[in-house]
Amino acid sequence: MRRQIVAGNWKMNMTPSQAKKLAEDIVPLVKGLTNSDVVVCPPFIDIPVVAEAIKGTNVKLGAQNIHWEEKGAFTGEISADMLKEYGVEYAIIGHSERRMYFGETDEGVNKRALYALSKGITPIICVGESLEQREKGETDAFVSGQVKAAFRGISGKDAKTVIIAYEPIWAIGTGKTATPEEANATIKMIRETVADLYGDDTAEELRIQYGGSMNDGNAYDLIAMHDIDGGLIGGAALKPEKFAVICKAADK
Ligand code: PEP
Repeated sequence: MRRQIVAGNWKMNMTPSQAKKLAEDIVPLVKGLTNSDVVVCPPFIDIPVVAEAIKGTNVKLGAQNIHWEEKGAFTGEISADMLKEYGVEYAIIGHSERRMYFGETDEGVNKRALYALSKGITPIICVGESLEQREKGETDAFVSGQVKAAFRGISGKDAKTVIIAYEPIWAIGTGKTATPEEANATIKMIRETVADLYGDDTAEELRIQYGGSMNDGNAYDLIAMHDIDGGLIGGAALKPEKFAVICKAADK
């Protein structure tokens, strides 16, 4: 049985004082969930206050990106060591908004993932097709290509620890969710792609989340699917009660 993981992607929301309150509101609502991992990924500037607010609880800390160099002239980027000093354990890599608006490439995603792993930070690698690609029947070819590119050079030992978030772009922030069957079918295909690269055991261990308008109303049905191991949550992650319902669905 794979351990479920729900991660809240707060995107560019929450000032430090708002982030502190949001974290403090989430903590008691998800207390006692021991069968699953609960992660919050605030904006970089909020990380210190959120780290303080979740100290000693079951809520873990993630970042929304990470660079592939230790330090240096990379304006606007953030390093693994900076994140680790605040106890960051996860980093979202290759979110479709980064790929769409900030020119992130498969190659960059791979470099970020390799570096995160080398520093003991678990990458949450996002993949997913556009509506046009889905309608043209290109989903499997495109998404498996993203997966293969992301895993280039990652050792078999590290591959097991990676988390993939399958996020169809057409479902992100649109209120349009993939059906549990649609989401499970693509996630199963991702698992098969990983099995081709690393073998069945690694593919069976790998945790693959669904993301895209997951909320308190649809989380149970999505998470109940065999290949779906939790969720990457955007909008609903900013609403403590809704986020907690999703976390509880994953903890069953
Ligand atoms: C996301 O951005 O990762 C996401 C899944 O957003 P939303 O839940 O708002 O669709």
